[in-house]
Amino acid sequence: MFSKKKITLEYTVEKCSKCGMQRKRKFSQGDVLFAECSKCDSCDGMSFIEKVFGETLEQ
Ligand SMILES: [Zn+2]
Repeated sequence: MFSKKKITLEYTVEKCSKCGMQRKRKFSQGDVLFAECSKCDSCDGMSFIEKVFGETLEQ
């Protein structure tokens, strides 16, 4: 019998608090919602984690 394999990919969306730019990246261990994470790429503001979500794929 064949069974479909499901994998869940987790993503983190970072948003800059200053210019509002969003960046999506792979979730990494320790990401916490609304935590400051990194410097924004396009301004000198700090970006924070706005959203963490998972996408389920069938293989
Ligand atoms: Zn910015």
